[in-house]
Amino acid sequence: MRELTRSEVRQQLDAGFPRLAPPRSVVVVGAGLAGLAAAHELHRAGCDVTVLEASERPGGRAFTLRAPFADGLRAEAGAMTVTPHCDYVTHYRKLLGVELDRSDLLDQDFSYFVNGRFVRADPASLAEAGLPLAEHERGMSVTDMIERYVTAVAEELGPDLAAPDWAPAAELEHLDRASVQEVLRGRGASQAAIDLMEPLFLEMRGGDLRSASALSWLRHESGHRSLLGEVDGWGKIAGGTDVLPQAFAGGLRDRIRYRSPVVRLEQDDDTVTVTYLDHGRLATVTADRVVVTVPFSAMRHVDVSHARLSEAKTDVMRRLRYSSIVRVYLQMRRQFWEGHNVSVSTDLPVRWVRDATASQPGPRRILEVLMTGWRSKAVAAMSEEERLNFVLGHVETMFPGAREHYELGLSVAWDHQPWIEGSYVLPERGHGKLMPAIRAPEGRIHFAGEHTSYEPNGGSMSYALESGVRAFVELAVA
Ligand SMILES: Cc1cc2nc3c(=O)[nH]c(=O)nc-3n(C[C@H](O)[C@H](O)[C@H](O)COP(=O)(O)OP(=O)(O)OC[C@H]3O[C@@H](n4cnc5c(N)ncnc54)[C@H](O)[C@@H]3O)c2cc1C
Repeated sequence: MRELTRSEVRQQLDAGFPRLAPPRSVVVVGAGLAGLAAAHELHRAGCDVTVLEASERPGGRAFTLRAPFADGLRAEAGAMTVTPHCDYVTHYRKLLGVELDRSDLLDQDFSYFVNGRFVRADPASLAEAGLPLAEHERGMSVTDMIERYVTAVAEELGPDLAAPDWAPAAELEHLDRASVQEVLRGRGASQAAIDLMEPLFLEMRGGDLRSASALSWLRHESGHRSLLGEVDGWGKIAGGTDVLPQAFAGGLRDRIRYRSPVVRLEQDDDTVTVTYLDHGRLATVTADRVVVTVPFSAMRHVDVSHARLSEAKTDVMRRLRYSSIVRVYLQMRRQFWEGHNVSVSTDLPVRWVRDATASQPGPRRILEVLMTGWRSKAVAAMSEEERLNFVLGHVETMFPGAREHYELGLSVAWDHQPWIEGSYVLPERGHGKLMPAIRAPEGRIHFAGEHTSYEPNGGSMSYALESGVRAFVELAVA
């Protein structure tokens, strides 16, 4: 069948899916937001849907940490921010009666900690810090740098870059072969300027600016997707991000089987057979179609040798890379540092430290540390005890008194998170060419999940939900 465009999927959703006829039975693999959206629509359309989820909870990367924190404090291990452009989050949030609160990121007090001291993003403070900026960067604020090296570059490429139905034009292809680092350096950015801007790019690529596709990045930084633009209206799911997947799961109750990892997919001309583990036994279920939402990083645990997948699909399943992220949470007896809602980007290996609980009541605070790229991989290789100790040591350098006020800690290394094994897709150079093969259905097997998004940087709840709806429309018209 012809590939559905993003606008076509949206029109179907807005119109309430007129004239769609889903098959009799569908198995959805994975109860993250993509799988839940697909299952929700299938169920509503009267299809016999079964969701097989490897873990014991819904939500996947929409994952709120509560235990072992005291006083009812919580922190987000994965998705946290909802922007006004997260259309699919807004749609389902309203449908399911889930509220939005104001994002803590709006009021944060952002600074850098470089060369052992706190520095602000304004020109005077940067000059005082003695950073090795290029001559022409002296007197610039970080906002000026972003304007020159990012916004101006994206604008020069024209309106197509930000168009809703994006298909990279041939004349932009060379940018898909270039890295973010190359484009920034090519425009005259010093390494010191890149280091200042990097925390404000999509979730900080760490060392990955050298392998990330410049085209994918510029697409993300153009228009409303950018984290650099208007932040008014940013929100977070009230009560914790996991409230959203739980609301979906509530409506699907007995359709979801937890602790049921799928280990094999087979298809013939008429059906798909899914083998999964059920309390230590092999079980099978046969359906007309299957929607696979498993991140490709975790698909290697699934045998697809009899699934009739194309070479392009198996190749891209092997090749797709994910950004590495470790998040560490340190519960502190009380706020012992100055200032409210601190958020600090640092040249120390811990990279980003913020108060994850600025808007939560009580004297205790959770300081969150977020690492990406090679540093994240290094820290992910440590034991939990080593990791906490490593992070605490660096936090002590920035905020003396950290060890004394520390009560307990917890970390999530997304590379090692069972059944996910990565944070979100890292669109490497050449990613644009892989996107159609990632998303394409293979016979009776359909693919959803953030990695199958219409956007190269799929790491968003909205794009995951959109992919679930796209898979639903795809199999209901097939
Ligand atoms: C650190 C981090 C920060 C983020 N920040 C934001 C943010 O601020 N805002 C935002 O909108 N988005 C954010 N995201 C992205 C967002 O969380 C994801 O894009 C989205 O949740 C992905 O949903 P999904 O359904 O595609 O995948 P997942 O949530 O990964 O769901 C896949 C599911 O499949 C299950 N599974 C895997 N293998 C099997 C198997 N063999 N059998 C059965 N089940 C299986 C997994 O257990 C999982 O539940 C962030 C993500 C991370 C990691």
